[in-house]
Amino acid sequence: MKNSNVRVRFAPSPTGYLHVGGARTALYNYLFAKQHGGSFVLRVEDTDEARSTTESLVSMLDDLSWMGLKWDEGPAPKTLDEKGDFGPYRQSDRKEIYFKHINELIKDGRAYYCFLTEEELDAQREEAKKAGEPFRPNSPYRDWSVDQAKEKIDNGEKPTIRFKNDHGEKLYTFKDLVRGEVSLPASMIGDFVIARSNGMPVYNFVCAVDDALMKISHVFRAEEHLNNTLRQLMIIEALKMEAPIYAHLSIMLGGDRQKLSKRHGAASLTDFKEKGYLPQALSNFIALVGWSSPSGEEILSMEQMIKEFSTERLHSASAVFDQEKLKWMNAQYLREMNTEDFFKRSKEFFKSDWKFPESGDWREKSFSALKSSMETLDDAAPLYEMLKLGGELDLNDQAKDVISWESTSKVLQVWKGLLSKAESEYINPEQIDGLINTVKAEAEVKGKFLFMPIRVASIGKAQGTEIKDLIPLIPVSELVLRADKLIG
Ligand code: GLU
Repeated sequence: MKNSNVRVRFAPSPTGYLHVGGARTALYNYLFAKQHGGSFVLRVEDTDEARSTTESLVSMLDDLSWMGLKWDEGPAPKTLDEKGDFGPYRQSDRKEIYFKHINELIKDGRAYYCFLTEEELDAQREEAKKAGEPFRPNSPYRDWSVDQAKEKIDNGEKPTIRFKNDHGEKLYTFKDLVRGEVSLPASMIGDFVIARSNGMPVYNFVCAVDDALMKISHVFRAEEHLNNTLRQLMIIEALKMEAPIYAHLSIMLGGDRQKLSKRHGAASLTDFKEKGYLPQALSNFIALVGWSSPSGEEILSMEQMIKEFSTERLHSASAVFDQEKLKWMNAQYLREMNTEDFFKRSKEFFKSDWKFPESGDWREKSFSALKSSMETLDDAAPLYEMLKLGGELDLNDQAKDVISWESTSKVLQVWKGLLSKAESEYINPEQIDGLINTVKAEAEVKGKFLFMPIRVASIGKAQGTEIKDLIPLIPVSELVLRADKLIG
């Protein structure tokens, strides 16, 4: 058990991929818990049976783990085995608990069985619309006794259960850590459904009950749930439970100020992972979309963020997610990576049949020469593809054109001849100019007729990355092989 009373939760609905907005919510919860020596709980909000899948849950938990966010209670990644004293943590396993409280509310006259059909509700909606009034369900079953209702149920009817909102004009006022004092009038809503006719309680009910039962002290969640807080506070009040402190986080927007979506390039953690972003960079970056560090620093490790996180610096205005800036930040992290970690993480971006020189020294050398040309791990693949062993060069049209030039075969002959005489395993950067000058003299060509064939024979490309960075990373024997294949 932790000795702090701070308990926060991240409560995803496993109905798809984890959005970066959700990842940021999880991160803020995590930072707050760690800063206070509290507990970070992972609760699975899977009461929407039709849309929730185990596959989505597993992928969300994997993504959170990838980001380095470890929760103290809840289902473990992969196995989904649960740990913690407040379980079960999947709401689909908590139905009995919910119905115990629903029955209590029914008994106390705070909730009732409602047999209004969809058609009847639609008619009421239509009437309200005609009268220009907000729709509030008007249920004739509101004041029925439980026995009356039970009789209908025994006859096979399946009611919803509605919460009786009899709070008139009462204002529900709470202090939101992001938005300051928020007042929501009870009259905003009518009697609302807390359990569907299929016997499943709804989000607002289960969320309120679980926050209270799991002794959640602070709720950091998306702004879109602000209005739900009214229903949740009513439920918590009716059950004589204690409400958490809320913090409703501003929305994350794309550059066009629309909600961030795949249209903006990437939106789920899976998208960013696949594009070769590093988890540390992504965590650092998303922390700063909606929060700023008191030190004004931008590159912040998880430890620093834990230390510096403060709810006072959470912005209430929506924040733009600038993918270009994320790229820049990722490049900073990439440059600081250690070689082993780089190769481990890049593996999935490289084709499995690519062979590279074995020595550890080569790895160091190649990474330190190439890292400044990469912003993401995805950028590493085309660079390293030029270094793979085996003599295969995948020539584009421009490169093929270079090979067809009349003077090219002479250049390649001379180039190959010089390489074959080299005594070391690799050409070092200082030798390259000398070699090229010798080719120039012996083949009697200059300018593009000199450089381009050498580029194509070395890396398969007529343009692009500086060959001086690449040639010293390709064993001489491989350079000979490549030239040989082109000479044919
Ligand atoms: N399951 C909700 C969602 O994914 C979370 C709501 C909450 O944090 O209260 O949006």
